[in-house]
Amino acid sequence: MNMIAADALVTGDGGQNNAPVQLAVRGVTRVFAGARGKPPTQALRPIQLDVRENDFITILGPSGCGKSTLLRIIAGLDTPTEGEVRLDGQPIRGPGADRGMVFQSYTLFPWLTVEQNIRFGLRERGMGEAAQKERSDFFIAKVGLRGFEHHYPKQLSGGMQQRTAIARALANDPKMLLLDEPFGALDNQTRVLMQELLLGIWEQAQKTVLFVTHDIDEAIFMASRVAVFSARPGCIKSEIAVDFPHPRHYTLKTSPEFMQIKARLTEEIRAETLAAAGQ
Ligand code: ADP
Ligand code: MG
Repeated sequence: MNMIAADALVTGDGGQNNAPVQLAVRGVTRVFAGARGKPPTQALRPIQLDVRENDFITILGPSGCGKSTLLRIIAGLDTPTEGEVRLDGQPIRGPGADRGMVFQSYTLFPWLTVEQNIRFGLRERGMGEAAQKERSDFFIAKVGLRGFEHHYPKQLSGGMQQRTAIARALANDPKMLLLDEPFGALDNQTRVLMQELLLGIWEQAQKTVLFVTHDIDEAIFMASRVAVFSARPGCIKSEIAVDFPHPRHYTLKTSPEFMQIKARLTEEIRAETLAAAGQ
């Protein structure tokens, strides 16, 4: 376990990964205007974050601390009040195919089948029929949905819908995957299987992943680095490099080394949750 002070990241000390910085979050804040007569809400204090190619960063924090706000800003769905986010050196100005999003609530098109959902973005980009089919078949197999190509979302379990959403995001070949509590609505057994599935894909595909969760086990198991958020207004309170080798097996979660990181993070999150509750 390797603690890195959040402010040290600006100098480029991002743990073991020495790949180039792909995403640079610099001094990002977000203040939401209050509804009629209500005071404004400061969701984020200045955030600094370096994400390197192939990083798997989990963002862990109490509910309401600004995790989704940060992810939406990185996705280009919201704009910071101050500061900026750069992807490969270019300021983010809106959503783009270079960032694939998966949210907690199922965001598949209900009137399209699994295959049509996955092919949607490819068709929009003007990819030929045969190439679309080949690509969607590949990712359908990868997420274990062979045989369900022609099912509609309502005919699928929650886990299968999220597997479709992941396949759809991956099929567009984004530079980064942005996931906001993607397994939050799943039962625990399914959730654990989905963690292994996504981690397996990452181990092969070497994508850059930013994964928001409030589940400590999930945050440690998947991450190359865990960024811990403070209570709102959120900032990155600490970062922990998670050095367990890959491929990771679920039994890792009961190892003494895992439990040690978990104990530390449990304390940190508890302190922030108490702070959020005003105690
Ligand atoms: P988290 O994802 O960590 O649970 P969010 O980023 O969703 O937290 O929210 C952080 C804070 O910002 C909360 O207090 C929330 O109510 C507020 N907030 C989020 N989006 C908006 C919005 N569009 N307008 C006003 N307040 C918002
Ligand atoms: Mg959220």
